[in-house]
Amino acid sequence: MKRIAVLGATGSIGASTLDIVARHPDRFRVTALAAHRNVTALADLCARFRPELAVIADPACESELRARLTEAGVTCRVAAGPAALIEAAAGTHCDTVVAAIVGAAGLESTLAAARAGKRLLLANKEAIVMAGPLLLAALAEGGGELLPLDSEHNAVFQCLPGGRPNLAAAGVRRILLTASGGPFRGLKASDLVEVTPERACAHPNWRMGRKISVDSATLMNKGLEVIEAHYLFDAPAERIEVVVHPQSIVHSLVEYVDGSVLAQLGNPDMRTAIACALAWPERVEAGVTPLDLLKIARLDFEAPDLATFRCLDLAYRALAAGGTATAILNAANEEAVAAFLDGRLPFLAIPETIERCLAGLGATAAIDLATVLDADLTARRDAQRIIATLSARTHK
Ligand code: NDP
Ligand code: MG
Repeated sequence: MKRIAVLGATGSIGASTLDIVARHPDRFRVTALAAHRNVTALADLCARFRPELAVIADPACESELRARLTEAGVTCRVAAGPAALIEAAAGTHCDTVVAAIVGAAGLESTLAAARAGKRLLLANKEAIVMAGPLLLAALAEGGGELLPLDSEHNAVFQCLPGGRPNLAAAGVRRILLTASGGPFRGLKASDLVEVTPERACAHPNWRMGRKISVDSATLMNKGLEVIEAHYLFDAPAERIEVVVHPQSIVHSLVEYVDGSVLAQLGNPDMRTAIACALAWPERVEAGVTPLDLLKIARLDFEAPDLATFRCLDLAYRALAAGGTATAILNAANEEAVAAFLDGRLPFLAIPETIERCLAGLGATAAIDLATVLDADLTARRDAQRIIATLSARTHK
C-alpha cells in the first residue's frame, strides 16, 4: 500500500491524482492533503479520502477548515502555514509525495519531500526551474527518487533506460519535447494585441490551471520544460529540442545515435502520466480513453515560431546564463502572468517584462536556498516595477 501526500490537492493535477487513487483503493491511500485557500474543496476531499493530515497554507483559513471538517464529521489533524506544508511533504505518514502546488510557493515543500527520501512525483516544474541543483542535491541526500508528472518528461522517462542514465553512455543523441503550440498557434504578434485571459486559458487539448494555461499560450511552459528536462535528465541545452505537435498525442521523444527514435503516445489526459508515476514500475488502469490511431489518422509536426512566442527563447537564454537566472525568469514570469490574468498587463508585455527583468538583474551562482529565494524576491519587485511602467504605457 503506497501512502500518499497530495500537495495542491484542490487543483487540476490534484484532481487527476485523486481520481487514480480512488480507482485503486487496494494500492493507494491518501495520508495528507494540502491546498492554499480553497477550504470548501479541501474539506470535501478530506471527507472523501479521510487523510491523517489536512493542511491549508493560508493560516487565515485554518479555523474555517476546522469548522467544515467538524461539520462533516472528519477527525483528521489540521495544520496551517509553511511549516505545516513541510510536514505534509516530509512527515512519516507518507512514502510518496505528489508535488502539485503551482509556482514558487511549492519550492520548499518539494525540497523537503526530496530531502526526506520520499518518492517525489513532480508536477511543480517551477521548483526545479528555480532550484534544479538544490533539488538534485536534496534527492541525493534523502536517497529517494523523482518521477516526473509533466507529460513530456514522463514520456522521456519512459523512453530512456531505467534510472537517470548518463545520456552519452546510453547513446542518446537528442531529447525532443513536443509542444501543442497552445491556443494561439499560427498567429502573429499583431493578432495577439487584444488577447483576453479567457482566450489565453482556452487550451485546445488540455484542461489545466490558469497559470500553466497562460504559460502554454506564451510558450513559456515549453521554456520551463526545457529547463526541467536539463536538470531531470542531465541533458545539455543543445541536446533538448522543441517540436510543435498540435494534436498532443506524441508526448515527447528520445533519439538514439543509431537512428532509433522512441516516443510515448497517448490521448492528452494527465492521468496517464500520473498513473504511470504512482504505480511505477507496475502499470494500473487510469480510466483514459484508449488511443484510436485510425480516428486520429494524422500527426503533424512543425517548428516553433520563436519570433512571435519569445518566451521559449528567453528560457534557453536563462538556462545558458545559469545560476539564479532561471529563478529570475520564473519569478518575472509568475508576476507577469498574474498581472495579465488580473487585466493589468497586455499579453504581449509578458515576454517584455521577463526580458527586461533578466537584463536588469545580475544572475549569481545559486549555491543555497537563501540565494535562490533572494533572487526570487528581488526579481518579483523588479517585475512589479516594470509591469507598472508597461501598463501605464498601455493605458495612455
Ligand atoms: P491549479 O491552479 O489547478 O492548482 C494549484 C494548486 O496549488 C491548488 O491546489 C492550490 O490550492 C495550490 N496552491 C496555490 N498556491 C498555493 C500556495 N501558496 N500554497 C499552497 N498551495 C497552493 O494548478 P495545476 O494543477 O494546473 O498545476 C499545478 C502544477 O502542476 C503547476 O506547477 C503546473 O505547471 C504543473 N503541471 C500541471 C499540468 C496540468 O495539466 N494541469 C500539467 C503539467 C504540469 P487552492 O485551490 O486552495 O488555491
Ligand atoms: Mg507539460
